[in-house]
Amino acid sequence: MIQSKFPELLHGGDYNPEQWMKQKDTIWRQDMEYARKAGINTLSIGIFSWSFLEPEDGVYDFAWMDEVMDNLAANEIKAVLATPSGARPPWLAEKYPSVLRMTNERMRRVYGGRHNSCLSSPDYRRKVTEINTRLAQRYANHPALAIWHISNEYNNDCHCPLCQARFQEWLRARYGTIDQLNDCWWNSFWSHRYTSFEQVESPTSPSWLGENESPAAQLAWKRFCTDNLVDFFNMEIAPLRQATPDIPVTANMMGTFTGLDYYKLGRAMDISSWDNYPQWTGDERDVAVSEQSAFKHDLMRGVSDQKPFLLMESSPSAVNWFSCNRIRTPGTLMYQSMQAIAHGSDSVQYFQFRAGRGGSEQYHGAVINHTGSANTRVFREVTDVGAALKQIAPVAGSVTRNQVALLYDWNDRWALDIAWFLHRGNQKYEETVLDHHAALSMQGIGIDMIDQDSEIDAYRVVVAPMAYLIRDGFSEKIEKFVQNGGRLVLTYASGYVNEESLTFQEPNPCLLHSIAGIRVDEIDALDDRRTNHFIWNGKRYEVKEVAELSTLDGAKQLAGYEEQFYAEKPMLTVHPYGDGCCYYIAARTDADFLCDLYDKVLAEAGISLLATEMTDGVKVTARYDGDNQYVFLMNSSHAKGTATVTKPMRDLQTGELIDGMCTVQPMSIRVLVSAN
Ligand SMILES: [Zn+2]
Repeated sequence: MIQSKFPELLHGGDYNPEQWMKQKDTIWRQDMEYARKAGINTLSIGIFSWSFLEPEDGVYDFAWMDEVMDNLAANEIKAVLATPSGARPPWLAEKYPSVLRMTNERMRRVYGGRHNSCLSSPDYRRKVTEINTRLAQRYANHPALAIWHISNEYNNDCHCPLCQARFQEWLRARYGTIDQLNDCWWNSFWSHRYTSFEQVESPTSPSWLGENESPAAQLAWKRFCTDNLVDFFNMEIAPLRQATPDIPVTANMMGTFTGLDYYKLGRAMDISSWDNYPQWTGDERDVAVSEQSAFKHDLMRGVSDQKPFLLMESSPSAVNWFSCNRIRTPGTLMYQSMQAIAHGSDSVQYFQFRAGRGGSEQYHGAVINHTGSANTRVFREVTDVGAALKQIAPVAGSVTRNQVALLYDWNDRWALDIAWFLHRGNQKYEETVLDHHAALSMQGIGIDMIDQDSEIDAYRVVVAPMAYLIRDGFSEKIEKFVQNGGRLVLTYASGYVNEESLTFQEPNPCLLHSIAGIRVDEIDALDDRRTNHFIWNGKRYEVKEVAELSTLDGAKQLAGYEEQFYAEKPMLTVHPYGDGCCYYIAARTDADFLCDLYDKVLAEAGISLLATEMTDGVKVTARYDGDNQYVFLMNSSHAKGTATVTKPMRDLQTGELIDGMCTVQPMSIRVLVSAN
């Protein structure tokens, strides 16, 4: 794996000079001038350039790209060079129709749009390999080449016969025999036992068309789509690895996008990267928007096991696909940019550098707007971000050292989304993990996101909300963690099914109930009109939406439900286990309870806080290099905030010495440094 350390923080964005091919004498020259002026040191090119790079099948034109690469090098700008598979030219679909995806209604798409090629098509794979090989060989030794940007926002699935065949091949490799698949999928239900792998098809939509009600089949399809995509990704990077073994590869992801298990994709790359488009409001609702963004930054760092990541895209102003597209209010761009760095990004990059005159993204925010002038508020704010990134350049390459891990596993999410129980289709897995992230981050700590495959020995607290599906090996790992002194927080809806989405034949939370010290007897879905309550440490809290009825089996009850037939049943328990312990939360609550609980759990675990006495909307993270600790105090409130740092520090941008209480201006971030 190639180290992603750059000597400086990257600042740049998606650059589409091919849209201005006929005005390159003016526009291209101005682009370089403006990039220098804005402190841009990185531009992503070639993402949607296939029809210019290969205007006809087998006819290549790299002369224009040579010129762009030379321009970048001459201006000391790094190229994040893309493979063009995100969108293909019309001739390719016309000549090789197998590249066109088939929908889950089994309809072949016609040419158009982007991100819609069949990843199983041998023709598509061959054409992508050919053009990637030529790009790699041509620019292997070009001084501008810094990073490979693989495709763009890989997403969604294809249901064509080629994909069905690969799915069946994948099933054969996973299950060995059709009998085993039938058993794992519980196909004795509704007389669905297959007699050959060739009978198995991908899930359909609408439901009357075919199979779309088998949880195991749907889960298998999700897993296959990720594996097929990672296989395609590895095929894309093979010629790049051969020609440029030292150039890191990345593919830009999309936060909590449900279509792919990003841990699998993230672990296949050298640097993870993602596109962040928070819907800032310009008022106090920004505290919640900021928290969502923080959660996703942590997740995108987590998918490549906590290494620094890249913010590959963000908008310097409005986006254009929400129903209400607000521009960034003054200062929001700086906050959004510095927040990414605070959570482990080594870059701030935008979509897009120059606004195109047409196409569906003609009104998407850009560093340079349609007037082509640098005398705009957005351009000045981008320039300010460039200057700030230079001031905090020592942060580049530094890493996090968090003591608390929070589980977000795509398998849990998928299995819950698919499951026919509770609030079917609305299990709120993402919202629940986000609630725990928010409550933890209010304590004055940074948080690592993990999946069930992650190493957890180095953490002191692991929080696993709605760990519904227990993959092979996870319960043993958790047991060892708690035995060795770790603190585990488990919640309702954990340990219900195995890796194949089959229920266990023991009490929930299965495989974990000896650690939790409780046995769940029933789980209930509460509608909006039904709540319950409990009192803990003298304070009364509300229960909503999901509640379990359990029996103690070794755990100590800290709080019981108040009302109805739930009364006195355990709502919050703790169970000492080995040198550690397990807290179990039996029902969904509001944030106030989670905040109070984590205040206690983190104190018991001896977690070092990065800051204390933070006012509403203030959060904190830290990054470390060999010598220094960098603390980021973030205030997403539109009122002035304060926090108390736990040791004397220096403001990396102003040089001010901070000892004790630190003021943070509304919607702004301070970067403090001290010796480790
Ligand atoms: Zn296909």
